[in-house]
Amino acid sequence: MALTEPAELLVGLAQLDTGRCLAYNGVLCMSCRSACSAEALRFDARFRPEVDTERCTGCGFCVGVCPEHALRILWPLEWSRPAVTPPGRRDRPG
Ligand code: SF4
Ligand code: SF4
Repeated sequence: MALTEPAELLVGLAQLDTGRCLAYNGVLCMSCRSACSAEALRFDARFRPEVDTERCTGCGFCVGVCPEHALRILWPLEWSRPAVTPPGRRDRPG
C-alpha cells in the first residue's frame, strides 16, 4: 500500500489544551504554526489554533516550540479511551 496521505504515516496525534494556549487567552502567539510542515495547525480569525486531525501525523515538532506547553502528543493506546478519541478521525488503531 502506498503511503501517500499524512494519516498513513501516523505515529500519534497532537492535542491542544486551550486553557494553556496563549491565543485562547487573549495573547497573539502562533509560535507553533511554522513548526508544522503538515499544515495541521489551522488558525481561526482570532489567530487561535486547532489541530486538523486529518492532517496531523503526530510528529511532535509543535510540542517543543509552545512556550506554554499547550500541545502534547496522544499515542495510539490513548485513542481507544472514549474521552480522548479525536472527533472525525478515521480508522484509528484501538
Ligand atoms: S504533531 Fe506534527 S503534524 Fe501534528 S500538529 Fe504538531 S507539528 Fe503538526
Ligand atoms: S505555540 Fe502554544 S501558546 Fe502559542 S498558539 Fe501555539 S499552542 Fe497556543
